[in-house]
Amino acid sequence: MGVILGCIADDFTGASDLAAILARSGHRVGLRIGEPQAGEPHDDAAAFEVIALKCRTEPVADALLQTGKAADWLLARGARQLYWKYCSTFDSTPDGNIGPVAEALMERLGAQQTIYCPAFPENGRSIYMGNLFVGNVPLAESPMKDHPLTPMRDSNLMRLLQPQVTAREGHLPWQVVSQGADAIRARLSQLAADGVAHVVPDAIQQDDLSAIAEAVSDFKLVTGGSALALDMPRLLVARGLVGRAAGGITHPETGKGQLVLSGSCSAMTRAQVAAYTDTAVSWQLDPLALASGEEALEAALAWLRAQPVEAGKLIYATAEPSEVSAAQEKLGRDKAGAVVEDALARLAQEGFALGVRRFVVAGGETSGAVTQALGADRLSVGREIAPGVPWCFATRDGDTFAITLKSGNFGAEDFFARALASLET
Ligand code: ADP
Repeated sequence: MGVILGCIADDFTGASDLAAILARSGHRVGLRIGEPQAGEPHDDAAAFEVIALKCRTEPVADALLQTGKAADWLLARGARQLYWKYCSTFDSTPDGNIGPVAEALMERLGAQQTIYCPAFPENGRSIYMGNLFVGNVPLAESPMKDHPLTPMRDSNLMRLLQPQVTAREGHLPWQVVSQGADAIRARLSQLAADGVAHVVPDAIQQDDLSAIAEAVSDFKLVTGGSALALDMPRLLVARGLVGRAAGGITHPETGKGQLVLSGSCSAMTRAQVAAYTDTAVSWQLDPLALASGEEALEAALAWLRAQPVEAGKLIYATAEPSEVSAAQEKLGRDKAGAVVEDALARLAQEGFALGVRRFVVAGGETSGAVTQALGADRLSVGREIAPGVPWCFATRDGDTFAITLKSGNFGAEDFFARALASLET
């Protein structure tokens, strides 16, 4: 069977989040990192495929190129619907990239209309009167207003979208959404007749998303956060387009060698590192030492080689904000990040050579560096450890290994231990 629902995500941990939501259905979900290989046999693809790109803040032309290639790959494998996944806080600028990519995909698919639905009620993202709320506050009053790359200074999704697209945008109010899929369909047709190509539906609770997903099941393109996808597998099974899931997700066997690698300095990761060092041995990386020569990395490698492969162990660069700023002042932000990412990538390779087959990785950028170093461009998605964070599986040199990729603020304090323990059950 080929691809049925083909998803393109604008960042890495967002892709893993969407893959986890789809995998809740028990279906096989493929997660691919970066543009997939064109030559890969078509029947290797799963009914649900998610392609993780890194194009949220790239220049528009680059984003169009990357997403266009991903769409080609999915369509060549039979995808009947494309899903353009972005952040539930609609991270974008007046230039893009949410709107321009959506418009380009619509043109390629011959779609007259699509929807924009970043709502994620389980995580406090809701849309009412076209305005996006983060918890109790409008988007423009949330911490997203100060985001370094995509500061969100307006909460109205139609206004945010307007400079990003050429065709007309419009609103589908909750009063219609709450009446269910038929009412939503009727209003979408009416909007289409009025020339509205880009529709923002209100969605306050998961039931709203279920009704919207049902109403757009024939759309060639849908766009949104991950929560809109929750019901899609069920709807596709009901229509006979996808077979029933075989049962719960089963994990392949992996060796018991384990290693936690953390390059995230987010508040939750700092708490997770502190909690895990109570029970596991650990080694801290210092970006300044790493930047000044080979010794710091050699010392970390020697430490890793000296540990029993099956023992719980953590290598981290995770540090308090003041230490991060100090390193960034001396090295520059990019260099400080790069030396840490390079070191963790090298340590992951060494870990694999030593027999580690269970990797827990903390940090979005860090995850990119580690998966690349391990040559894991194709992952199969397993059970969720925390909402939006699944175990994934890949092969290297013919051996299967487990890897979980956790973005900064995801998971609870005991995430590392919990993740590893969950592979034992
Ligand atoms: P998150 O998901 O929490 O944002 P990321 O891995 O995406 O985590 O980003 C963290 C960045 O900070 C990475 O580039 C990492 O290499 C860098 N970094 C990690 N530790 C330090 C440190 N002690 N000083 C400076 N930069 C660091």
